[in-house]
Amino acid sequence: MDYSEEIRDIYEVVKNNPNKGDTATYIPELADVDPDSFGIHITTIDGDEFGIGDYKHRFSIQSIVKVLTLSLAYKMLGKRIWNRLGVEPSGTAFNSLVQLEADNGIPRNPFINAGALVICDILISKLNNPKADFLAFLKNFSGNPGISYSDTIAKSEKSKGYRNIALCNFIKSFQNIDNDPNEVLNFYFDICSIKMNCNELSRTFLLYANNGRKVSDNTQILTISQSKRIKSVMQTCGFYDESGEFTFKVGLPGKSGVGGGIVAVCPKKYAISIWSPKLNSKGNSYRGMKFLELFTTRTETSIF
Ligand code: GLU
Repeated sequence: MDYSEEIRDIYEVVKNNPNKGDTATYIPELADVDPDSFGIHITTIDGDEFGIGDYKHRFSIQSIVKVLTLSLAYKMLGKRIWNRLGVEPSGTAFNSLVQLEADNGIPRNPFINAGALVICDILISKLNNPKADFLAFLKNFSGNPGISYSDTIAKSEKSKGYRNIALCNFIKSFQNIDNDPNEVLNFYFDICSIKMNCNELSRTFLLYANNGRKVSDNTQILTISQSKRIKSVMQTCGFYDESGEFTFKVGLPGKSGVGGGIVAVCPKKYAISIWSPKLNSKGNSYRGMKFLELFTTRTETSIF
């Protein structure tokens, strides 16, 4: 199935409407992008690909990486990771501290910052050289040797990382962080700094549409069950406290990041990525949400 015509049409509609929201200024380096950048790329299981706009421009994927760190931790530890964090939507902001007190330092899910910090802690305990080893995993997973960290973005986030520093130390006080909080935070800022473009993201996430198998050579990277469960957490928790809204309007498992990227996966069909840096009040790309709502409606590819 070739979706190029639908993408072209909807891209024009969204582009010709006002671009609302603001870029994420709390990470100084993220404010330094063209707010009207707009790119889309789709990769299908059948091998079709189509991109439009700024789909070749690399941007900071931020929280989208949390699907990939979860995948590696899950692959290495299996279901034991669920002793350290939950799979429930939080209904609070991605960087909120409030629930942790009542939940004894067990984050609600792996995609809020608290949960992603615990996943980083797990990876630090398991990997010899977490920064290099995670990147090697990602290069193999995506089949893309060109992916790298951005030291500038990591430093920029660290310079203003007060909430994440508070979160990590708070979780440590409940003994749900084993390693030195500084080491966990440095790794967290590094993984969030990874830069990819829409083309690279849609190709990478196609693995989840294909039940954990690489489409290029059929290698099973995640088990079918792991791929299923990761997609279900994307569905229920991938869009901060707007995950219900995304399900309601778009109806696909997906993940957003405050760099303005969104990836969404249509099981057995395609993976699609959108980049548009202006965020709505919940931290999700304004145009990304709009585009996907129109796209799954027109193509009848919502899973619901
Ligand atoms: N690095 C960002 C933070 O911790 C990630 C937020 C996001 O993309 O959701 O605030």
